[in-house]
Amino acid sequence: MKQSHLITKTVKSIPKEEVSLNSRLLIQAGFIDKLAAGIYTYLPLGLKALNNISNIVRDEMNKAGGQELLMPALTPKKNWEETGRWDGLDVLFKLKGAGDKEFALGATHEEVVTPLMKKFILSYKDLPKYVYQIQTKYRNEPRAKSGLLRGREFLMKDLYSFHTDSEDLDQYYEVMTKAYFKIFERCGLGDSTHLTYSSGGTFSKYSHEFQTVCKTGEDIVYLCKNCGLGVNKEIIDETPKCPGCEKSEYEEKNAIEVGNIFKLKAKYSDAFKMNFKDKEDKEHPVIMGCYGIGPSRVLGTIVEVHNDKNGMVWPEEVAPFKFHLVNLSKDSVQADKAYEALQKKGIEVLYDDRNEPAGVKLKDADLMGMPYRLVISDKTAEKIELKKRTEDETKLVALEDIDNV
Ligand code: ATP
Ligand code: MG
Repeated sequence: MKQSHLITKTVKSIPKEEVSLNSRLLIQAGFIDKLAAGIYTYLPLGLKALNNISNIVRDEMNKAGGQELLMPALTPKKNWEETGRWDGLDVLFKLKGAGDKEFALGATHEEVVTPLMKKFILSYKDLPKYVYQIQTKYRNEPRAKSGLLRGREFLMKDLYSFHTDSEDLDQYYEVMTKAYFKIFERCGLGDSTHLTYSSGGTFSKYSHEFQTVCKTGEDIVYLCKNCGLGVNKEIIDETPKCPGCEKSEYEEKNAIEVGNIFKLKAKYSDAFKMNFKDKEDKEHPVIMGCYGIGPSRVLGTIVEVHNDKNGMVWPEEVAPFKFHLVNLSKDSVQADKAYEALQKKGIEVLYDDRNEPAGVKLKDADLMGMPYRLVISDKTAEKIELKKRTEDETKLVALEDIDNV
């Protein structure tokens, strides 16, 4: 992609009320634009990064047997009344349609997926099943000051699992836990993300959060100094010993909840009377689990965790482009050639072909944070100067060798 063709420009002045680091950097670099508190447009570069995260999530969900579908965001009141959440869920956006029919914008989808799967799950032979979607959710969050970390409109992957019994659910819960760790590792958050016990379980003693340690995180977690397992603030008093290794030395950290997994058991199956027949034709409620992850919150978290004084630092699998080719020569012959050669090889490259001073181009490259910078200047002769965004050293490489870095 030629930078001169991009619809966006880096932004000099950011609105004062935009206080979070992730939104400030993303707005400044032209990755997102703010429409209102907690509501953002994903611009081409931001959308590319967001799609990369969604695709990592999709890949790992497919590997874990998930089947993708897409449920509506507009959901009728009666479904929420069945579970008591029309009045019980305080963040629900409610609206009236034609004929005064009432709807909610989906904040989560148990009320849609349960009656949906009820149509297909009849006997034990239909179980287990796993379905997921990557979809825009709406929540009337009272505090929407954290940029992409707390949107009023945001992207969520929600997977729902359906089982004959709790043992089968427990096994799949382990499969999902592993898949989540793989996702966070691929998103560059592997080292800083901890499985955390939380007291939020509806029908089991604990549910689990995936918490990414970060100074700006709004959650407090207690990490076991021995095994790294986390316990969230609300249960720390009842869990003086680490649930993982029984040691009792914790350190307190700020963190961002990037994912959340729950054993729902029969809560929603009971509400919608979703039963299956066993071998003896006896009916039982289907046992459910749900597994959420916010790709847009993950995007914001990556920016909060991976940055320096000059800007963002994208992990390779999430970066909109792996390479940022910057031409500092007076003419563009060599840079155009390099760009074309890299394009031909299928290498993702953003090419700064703008007519701007070197200082501006290099500053923008740092701010935008692609993993590798390639500079062509009068000093590099036939070679190209390669620099990793995370390192200070540069080295001269031949065009042919660039795909091996
Ligand atoms: P929080 O406690 O931070 O409000 P939650 O417990 O309400 O999160 P869930 O309902 O379990 O979150 O949603 C699943 C995932 O969706 C979360 O782990 C997070 O990654 C993401 N998420 C939830 N709310 C938001 C939001 N307002 N903006 C962006 N992502 C969100
Ligand atoms: Mg919430």
